[in-house]
Amino acid sequence: RELPADPVLENTRRQVAKACFSFVSPKQTANPELLHVSPEMLASLGLTEEDSKSDAFLNIFTGNTVVKNTQPYAMCYGGHQFGSWAGQLGDGRAINLFEVKHNTKFWAVQLKGAGITPYSRTADGLAVLRSSIREYLCSEAMHHLGVPTTRALTLALSGDKVLRDVMYDGNPAYEKGAIVSRVSPSFLRFGNYEILAARQDTHTLKTLVDYTIRHHFSHLGQPSKQTYIQFFSEVSQRTIQMIVHWQRVGFVHGVMNTDNMSILGLTIDYGPYGWLDDFNLSWTPNTTDSQHKRYRYGNQPNIGLWNLYQLANALFPLIDDAEALESILNQYKTDFETQSLQMMRYKLGLEKADEKDYLLIQDLEDNLQQSETDMTIFFRSLADFKKANPSEGLKIVAESFYNPTAISDVIKQNWNDWLMRYASRLQLETATDEARKKQMNTTNPKYVLRNYMAQLAIDAADKGDYNLIDELFQLLKKPYAEQPQNEKWFAKRPDWARHKVGCSM
Ligand code: AMP
Ligand code: MG
Ligand code: MG
Repeated sequence: RELPADPVLENTRRQVAKACFSFVSPKQTANPELLHVSPEMLASLGLTEEDSKSDAFLNIFTGNTVVKNTQPYAMCYGGHQFGSWAGQLGDGRAINLFEVKHNTKFWAVQLKGAGITPYSRTADGLAVLRSSIREYLCSEAMHHLGVPTTRALTLALSGDKVLRDVMYDGNPAYEKGAIVSRVSPSFLRFGNYEILAARQDTHTLKTLVDYTIRHHFSHLGQPSKQTYIQFFSEVSQRTIQMIVHWQRVGFVHGVMNTDNMSILGLTIDYGPYGWLDDFNLSWTPNTTDSQHKRYRYGNQPNIGLWNLYQLANALFPLIDDAEALESILNQYKTDFETQSLQMMRYKLGLEKADEKDYLLIQDLEDNLQQSETDMTIFFRSLADFKKANPSEGLKIVAESFYNPTAISDVIKQNWNDWLMRYASRLQLETATDEARKKQMNTTNPKYVLRNYMAQLAIDAADKGDYNLIDELFQLLKKPYAEQPQNEKWFAKRPDWARHKVGCSM
C-alpha cells in the first residue's frame, strides 16, 4: 500500500488534500462487551469460535488494541447528498483496521463508531446501540437473501454513553454507545473518486482508479483508457444488479447519496433503510426525505443512474470520451428494464417470456398499491395459486391485505381480472403448480427484517435483553425456508408500527 500524501498522522478534523486516506487511532472504550458475533463471517475470515471468545478478539474489534504491524486508517471521500455536491465527507466514524486474506479472498475489516477521524466534521465519530443493531442484523440478513452487501462480524457495546438528542426539557439524552465491525472486499465508494475529480487532482485520481482495477477488477487487465471504460461499464452493471435485488426483496436504502454507493456494487451504509410492509412505490423510510421522497422505493433505479452520471463525470478526466460514457449510461436504462422484468417474472413463477408480461406486472403493481398489500406475504401466498382455479385466487391473496374488509367492489374486480389473466398466462408455462411454488419460494423471501422487528430487538436491548438480536439473526439466516417455529415473524406489520420509520444516527 502506498503511503498517503496526508502528512498529518492523527485524528484532528481537517480537509485532506492530495490523499486517499489518513492514518488514525481508534478510541479507547470504557468497558467493551461483545453482544453478538457472526459465525459465518468469522469462518470467512479464518477465525474460530474459540478465537472470538478471547480478550484479544474483544479488544481488537472494539478498537482498544491495534494489531501489531497494522496501521488503521480513515478514507477520504466526498459525495452528492440529496442531489447537491457536499464536498469532503470521508470516514467520519469508520476506521479501517486491516485486511485479511483467507481462502484466496481479501477482506477489509473496519470499525464503525470507534471515534473521530479527520473526516468527522462536527460530529462525534460514535455510534449508538440502536443504529448498530440495525446495521448488524440487516447486513447479514441481506447476505443470506442473496443481495450483494457489505457484511458484519461483530456487534459490541463500547461501555460509553453517547449523546444523540436533547429532551424537550433541555436535558441531554444519552444512549448506549456501540461499535460494529464490518467487512467487505473494499469500502471504496463513488465519492472516493468524486472528491479527487472535484479537486482537479487527476494524478491521485489515476492512482486510485489504477489501484481499484489492480485489486478489484484485475480481470479487466492493465489499466488503460479502454480499461477505465470497461471498469465504468462493470460498475454500472453491478449497480443494476444490486438495485434489482433491492426491488425484489422490498429493501429501501433511504440515503442513496453517492458517498453511499459502493464501487463494487455492494449495499453499504445501513442508516435509515427500511423494508416495504405494504407494497408502495412512493414509500421512503427516511424522515428527512419525506417531502421530496428522492430515495423512495420506486425511484431507486433512477437514482442508481443519477449516481452513475456523477461517477462518469468524476472519471471523465481519465477517459476523455463522453460518447463511450453516455452509451454505458444509456445501456443502464435498457438493461435495468430487462433485468427488472426478468426478476418480476421469477417472482411470479414465469419461466418463459411473453411480450405482455410487462403489462401484467404493471397492473399487478397497481393492484398491490390500491389494496394496501403486504409485499412479502403476497408473493409467498401467490405461490399457492392454482392455475386451474383462478376464482379461488382472491381468497389466497386477501391474506396479504391490510384491510381485507375495506376492499371496494372495484378493487375486488381488478384483482379478479388480474388473477384470471395470471391463470391464463400460467397456461403458457410447462411447470406444475407444485414446481412453480418451489421456484417462487426461492426468490420470494418468507422472512425479512421488517422495521418493527428491528425495533423490538432495539427496545429489548435498551432494557439489557439481547436475546431477540440472536433470535432474529438466526431467523434471517434462512429467509426462504419454511420455519414453522418462527411463523410469528411471517405476519403483517402490527398497527403500532404503521408509521414508524428507520433511524440513522
Ligand atoms: P451518512 O449519511 O451515514 O452516509 O453519513 C454522511 C457523512 O457523515 C459520512 O461522511 C459519515 O462518516 C459522517 N457521519 C455520520 N455520522 C457521524 C458521526 N456520528 N460522527 C462523525 N461522522 C459522522
Ligand atoms: Mg455514509
Ligand atoms: Mg450512515
